[in-house]
Amino acid sequence: MVCRLCDQEKKLVKAHIIPHAFYGQVSDPKAGTLALTDVDGEYPKKSHSGLYDSTILCGECDSKRIGVYDDYAKKVFVDEQFKTEPIISACKVVGYKTSDLNYANIKLFFISVLWRASVSSQHHFRSVSLGPFEEIARSMILDNNPGSTEEFSVIIYKFSDVDYAMPIPYLDKPDGVNFYKVFLPGYCAFVKVDKRKTPTALRYAQIAANEPIIIISRQFIGSRDGKAASKIARANLGRIKIREPN
Ligand SMILES: [Zn+2]
Repeated sequence: MVCRLCDQEKKLVKAHIIPHAFYGQVSDPKAGTLALTDVDGEYPKKSHSGLYDSTILCGECDSKRIGVYDDYAKKVFVDEQFKTEPIISACKVVGYKTSDLNYANIKLFFISVLWRASVSSQHHFRSVSLGPFEEIARSMILDNNPGSTEEFSVIIYKFSDVDYAMPIPYLDKPDGVNFYKVFLPGYCAFVKVDKRKTPTALRYAQIAANEPIIIISRQFIGSRDGKAASKIARANLGRIKIREPN
């Protein structure tokens, strides 16, 4: 079969759309990570191994190209091996600042997750379609080119309350501009898939080369995504308890 990344006829491997390392790294090992979707009342999937597709990547592209970004993202978002300084406003931590992160690897990680979801025929990811941006993303991955701040702009959020729920990526339109929300346990990134500029209100947090990276602190419970996740989990998996705020 033909690898969707290098375009060569090769033996393809089981490629995770969201890397395996992000499943099961949760506060409650018994519960596993909840991979949730609200597409057409789809059942949530309590997953320890994650969702993969055997029709998209050859072994080399999976492990040596995209695998480099996945390994880096695990160090950052699972092991949290980086130093941060809290950003405080009105006596509250509203975010974190760090100079420890590699812009190119973070950016290409999120682009590659969306690209994988877009080329995948796995039904869980059918809500992700990059259209003309799919080929742009593919070239950026092949060239290891993270692009400018405005190309596939990335804004990172850390949830202050939940680290076990991982909704499926979906399209959102802050101020009418197309962004996909990509979830990891405890984190979410907004990734712009649009030629228009990032809305002014979000620009301060776009990650940029050679600049400290800002991570915005956000609550999951009570948010639109948190409410949707809680509703789906309650409706379909009654035995899994979603923590409520104290
Ligand atoms: Zn390949």
